[in-house]
Amino acid sequence: MTTEGPLVLVVEDEPQMSRFLRASLGTHGYRLVEATTANEGLAQATASRPDVVLLDLGLPDLDGIEVTRRMRAWTRTPIIVLSARGQEEDKISALDAGADDYLTKPFSVGELLARIRVALRHTAEAASAEEEPVFSLDELRVDLGARQVFVGPSEVHLTPTEYSLLTTLIEHAGKVVTHRQLLKEVWGPSYVEHTQYLRVFMGQLRQKLEPEPAKPRYLVNEPGVGYRLRVR
Ligand code: CA
Repeated sequence: MTTEGPLVLVVEDEPQMSRFLRASLGTHGYRLVEATTANEGLAQATASRPDVVLLDLGLPDLDGIEVTRRMRAWTRTPIIVLSARGQEEDKISALDAGADDYLTKPFSVGELLARIRVALRHTAEAASAEEEPVFSLDELRVDLGARQVFVGPSEVHLTPTEYSLLTTLIEHAGKVVTHRQLLKEVWGPSYVEHTQYLRVFMGQLRQKLEPEPAKPRYLVNEPGVGYRLRVR
């Protein structure tokens, strides 16, 4: 048991954003280590072993994508990328390089805290030996052991591909998964450009699972980036 809050490494070169993060996290029980360059950030990641990393994409020495790649060579620590509008491509590359999630500036304290909570929860689940074999959210219940899916009391039959798509999103529940990641995990590495597959199967999945398929409650679209399975 520890009385200290989770340690957040902030790698950000804009003083205004750093101040906002310091104030928001400090008042919510988080401890902070800060870096203003990529190299300093990489050094801090090794030295202080943070629980989660907030990483700005536009840094003066290296970009956030490269920082993500270098960190992923040795650690699974969750990385949440902070991107500016117009950095869509970089954001997707960072996610594909192994970042866990992103926030587009400007974002609210509420969004920031929610993303950090999701990231930390994933770490805790990965660390616990007895992971919950049932995913449930409102009316949706997926028994991962028995490979059964229910909406309310009724069992829903999914094709192997639909099931694989759903479980891939469950594995990353609450976090964005890029089109590329989904295509790679469900169909295989040679299918990463086939985004139309994803649209078709996501449509089918929504038809089967969503109360209102046109206004998805569980399988949320992240325009231009990917999909996110909502939690809570
Ligand atoms: Ca910057």
